[in-house]
Amino acid sequence: MDPVTRPVNVVIRTAKPDSATSATAIAPRSLTKMPTGGPLVDTFGRIHTDLRLSVTDRCNLRCVYCLPEEGVVFRPREEILSFEEIARVARLARGLGVTAVRITGGEPLIRRNVVELVRQVAEIGFEDLSLTTNGTSLSRLAKPLAAAGLLRLNVSCDSLRPERYASIRRRGDLDEVLTGMDAAEEAGLLPLKVNVVLVGGVNDDEVLDFAAFARATGRTVRFIEFMPLDADGAWQRGAVVPSDDVLARISSEYPLAAIDPERLDPAPADTYRFSDGSKGAVAVVASVTRPFCGTCNRLRLTADGAIRNCLFSDNEVTIRDSMRAGASDEEIALAIRRSVWGKLPGHGINDPGFLRPARSMSMIGG
Ligand code: SAM
Repeated sequence: MDPVTRPVNVVIRTAKPDSATSATAIAPRSLTKMPTGGPLVDTFGRIHTDLRLSVTDRCNLRCVYCLPEEGVVFRPREEILSFEEIARVARLARGLGVTAVRITGGEPLIRRNVVELVRQVAEIGFEDLSLTTNGTSLSRLAKPLAAAGLLRLNVSCDSLRPERYASIRRRGDLDEVLTGMDAAEEAGLLPLKVNVVLVGGVNDDEVLDFAAFARATGRTVRFIEFMPLDADGAWQRGAVVPSDDVLARISSEYPLAAIDPERLDPAPADTYRFSDGSKGAVAVVASVTRPFCGTCNRLRLTADGAIRNCLFSDNEVTIRDSMRAGASDEEIALAIRRSVWGKLPGHGINDPGFLRPARSMSMIGG
C-alpha cells in the first residue's frame, strides 16, 4: 500500500476535558497530496525547522499565568517519554529537516539526569540547541549543561522586585534566578535571553526597569504577551499588555531601533537594540495582538509523546504508543509529517469562536 495512505497507529486528541482518553482515528486533510520526502511542510507552504521538546510536565513553580497554586495533576511516570524515546523523535525530526531544538517543559531542569538527555540530543547535531528554564537550578546545572552541548538559554523572570517575584511565581526566590543567570553566562550559554510574561496590573509597571536591566547586563529581555494558556482559566483580553504599548513606553525613555523590521525570519520575537549603542536588547512576542502564524516554523513534542503543530491546537497526534508498539522510524516520521500537514493557518485566538486548548502552557511545553 502507498505509504501515504497506509493507516498508521496514531490517534488525535480533542480539546475536550477528557482529551487524554478520547481518541479517534486520524483523518488528515488532503493526505494524497502530502509529500513523503523533502522538508517538513504544511498545506500553506510553511516549512518547519524548529522543534520544541517538552521533557517533563512537572514544575517546581506555580506561576499565576501558567499553573494553579494547588492541586496540579501531573501525568504518571509511565506516560512520560524516556530519554531514548525523546532522542529518537529528535533524530527523526533532524532527518525531516529540523535544524533547531529548544528543550522545555514544565521545568526541564527538574527532570532527573536532564544533562544526559541534553547530551543525547546534542549528539544528533542541530544547528541550534537551546533550553527554556525558570532558572532555579541554573547555579548547579549551567556548567554541566554547557559541557553536554547546550548552546544557549532563555530564563523566565517576571519581576525584578523580590516580593512581587515571589507572588507571581508563588514559589522560588529572585536572587536564586539572578545568580543562575550569572552562572549561565559564566558557562558560556550566550546570548542569555530573559522571558517576561506581562500581565496587566500585575507587573506591567516594570517595563522600564526591565529595559534598564537589559542595558546594564547586556541581556535580551523578551516581553511576552499573556496568552490564554493558564491552567486557572483566568486569562482575559484586558490583562494582555500590547507589545506596541511596551515598545512605545521603552522608546520614550530609551529610543529603539528594530533589528529585523521586516520580520522576514520566523522567530516569534521582534528584537530591538538601543539607538544610543548601549549593550543589551529588548524583544516583544506579540502572540495575541500581532500573531506571527504566517511565518510559524515550529512543532512540539509533549512530555507524554504527542506531536502538536501549534500551541493552540485542538488536536494532537500521539506517537508514544506507536513507538512502544514497535512502529518503524518511517511510520513515526510519517506521523510527524501528518501532524504538520494538518496545521491550521493561524492560532485563532482572535476569532469569535476561539476555544482555548485543554492543556495549559506547562502541560504542552512552552
Ligand atoms: N519552566 C520553564 C520556564 O519557566 O521558562 C519552561 C516552561 S514555561 C511553560 C515556558 C515559557 O512559557 C515561559 O517563559 C513562561 O513564562 C511562558 N508562559 C507560561 N504560561 C504563559 C502564558 N499563559 N502566556 C504567555 N507565556 C506563558
